Amino acid sequence: MRGLVGKRVLVSGGSSGIGLAAARRFLQEGCRVFVGGLDVAEVEQAVRSLSSDGDVAGLACDVSEETGASRLTEAAAAELDGLDVLANNAGIARRDPFLSIRPADWDRIIAVNLRGMFLVAQAAANSMVQRGQGGVIINMSSTNGIAGEEDYSHYNASKGGVLLLTKTMAVELGPYGIRVNALCPGYIHTSLNEAIAAGIGGDQFERDYAEQRIPLRRVGVPEEVAAAYAFLASDDASFIHGTGLVIDGGQLAVM
Ligand code: NDP
Repeated sequence: MRGLVGKRVLVSGGSSGIGLAAARRFLQEGCRVFVGGLDVAEVEQAVRSLSSDGDVAGLACDVSEETGASRLTEAAAAELDGLDVLANNAGIARRDPFLSIRPADWDRIIAVNLRGMFLVAQAAANSMVQRGQGGVIINMSSTNGIAGEEDYSHYNASKGGVLLLTKTMAVELGPYGIRVNALCPGYIHTSLNEAIAAGIGGDQFERDYAEQRIPLRRVGVPEEVAAAYAFLASDDASFIHGTGLVIDGGQLAVM
């Protein structure tokens, strides 16, 4: 894709799943990459596994904390000598019927998925504005930020918030030459979904879900979302700004 070679990319939540695939894709496109994650051993393992594809480093910290988000962004900007692209990807999910969500679980989902996304985006945007060379920010929303899947009201609320955060950031940051968009993937096979599916039927749950809800009759794989990250970060997306790109095998098209 055009304009990616040499770009300095921070992927939060880059130690696993979609973020790991995105980090690999950016390296294969000729970018330099810095990955974040929560677990130290997992970040180290990700950096080891990615290093065969290019120049990569990483840091473990909690993006829901102000100090974690600023440490991550500062470490990435220091390591890469600036930031051109933020793939703001870190997130968590759990299934809870609305009537029995515990406030602590609600708070944690919102803290990581919405507050964390805001904190990392703000720190990265300030770094980009200070350098005055523009940039690209891609926030991770979800199809669950657009429609209300049952048993995910905390997650849906966090991802809907990310979508409007993205649009508002686009309005405010566009004049600085910073393009801001969101990704809205549907069901992607990652450890996040494996953990959820494990309690409700495992692989069979996933097969049934695909059969009943997804017109392409399969779930997605992380590489299919990584490709969308690369596209939105590239110059091929140079006039795409303030929107959410759906990657869902047609799930949201169903009436
Ligand atoms: P994974 O669990 O595989 O990866 C999540 C990543 O986020 C990991 O690197 C994890 O680090 C990191 N992370 C989690 N919590 C924190 C935290 N507090 N601070 C810093 N890093 C953190 O999940 P996916 O790849 O599936 O999900 C990635 C993103 O995509 C999430 O935002 C998710 O909501 C979104 N998404 C996923 C979909 C799917 O179907 N899988 C669909 C739509 C959106 P660690 O492993 O160390 O905890």
